[in-house]
Amino acid sequence: MLTLIKGANLYAPEYLQQKDILIVDGRIAAIAENLQFEITGIEIDVVDGSGLCALPGFVDPLAHITGGGGEGGFHTRTPAMELTDASMFGVTTLIAGLGTDATTRTLPDLLAKANGLSTEGLTVYCYTGSYEVPVRTLLGSVRDDILLIDKFIGVGEVAIADHRGSHPSARELARIAAEARVGGMLSGKRGIVFLHVGEAEEKLDLIRSVTEDFAVPVTQFYPTHMNRSLSLLRHGYDLAAKGMVLDVTASTTPELLAQGELSAAAALAQALADGVAHTQISISSDGNASLPDFDAHGTLVGLQVGQVRSVYDAFVEAVNNYDIDISVALHAVSSNAARYLGLKKKGILAPGADADIVLVEEGNLAIHSVWARGKRLVGEGKALVNSTFQREP
Ligand code: ZN
Repeated sequence: MLTLIKGANLYAPEYLQQKDILIVDGRIAAIAENLQFEITGIEIDVVDGSGLCALPGFVDPLAHITGGGGEGGFHTRTPAMELTDASMFGVTTLIAGLGTDATTRTLPDLLAKANGLSTEGLTVYCYTGSYEVPVRTLLGSVRDDILLIDKFIGVGEVAIADHRGSHPSARELARIAAEARVGGMLSGKRGIVFLHVGEAEEKLDLIRSVTEDFAVPVTQFYPTHMNRSLSLLRHGYDLAAKGMVLDVTASTTPELLAQGELSAAAALAQALADGVAHTQISISSDGNASLPDFDAHGTLVGLQVGQVRSVYDAFVEAVNNYDIDISVALHAVSSNAARYLGLKKKGILAPGADADIVLVEEGNLAIHSVWARGKRLVGEGKALVNSTFQREP
């Protein structure tokens, strides 16, 4: 089956005006004005894109697909995500990691869930490792995991500057980065080190030490939760200027915002206003993570669950509330993470790229349709493919 999307306003993420998109066998085969062709005997699914914008499927560089933390006890272990948690909101690629709890949440479970979501239509990669150092691995080393297991494209989220982490030394972090780097080199992957950055005063100082003392390139690191505070965000600007992408977290709570966290959209607007290049900020969901609220003494006072849909909500907020250009906001939710993670066929609309396409209504940006690797998961705003065990709504 061929699919032809006619006359949508195309953001690649650069704005390319009204174009047609031809999907063949899960890939974008052609993008052109007014594509015309006819092949006898082959059915073509023609979709009217008028009044709609075509965007690359969103790329979420951190989701806890098997559930995360549970800092309030066993009954607060967060649930695993479902296909439609992502597909209904345009997220077609996710990178999955373990969270605070890498004891009862395991890498085999993570890989199994990633395979399940991939079978259902999404593209899912994983980080090996864990919050704590020495990091958990499947085959005994970060290097072997990245080199030998397709789905592992890096290590993370390793916690720095956080009371829940294990306070790795610069030497320990350098060793992890070197293993990820070599495992990545030998397997054609980026071997990124994805870092959970906590609220401790040291902020990103450990990254600076590792890059200065052990000659690890700054672009080996990918720090998240950079919108935890304005001072943390700004602490990353000089590293962003050296090529590092700063990741901000879209899932939040009113309590966290009241404590000084910036919404992902607000952080994007702030960074752009401060002169950070629009290619150096990405937005992740932290989906299905626990969002614990600790008081000044470190006592847990509340806990909520992150949502994958927050990436889409942040995109809409950035465009509608902060007047950020659609193309610029799209870099943050699609192409920047894909580029930085080395996922060449993701986050862009171009011939040869995977057919991960989101159609949104012009103006309100409501989701109309979603294709993931050419399979239509959402049509007219409704799920066409449900999660395997999902009950009918
Ligand atoms: Zn985290």
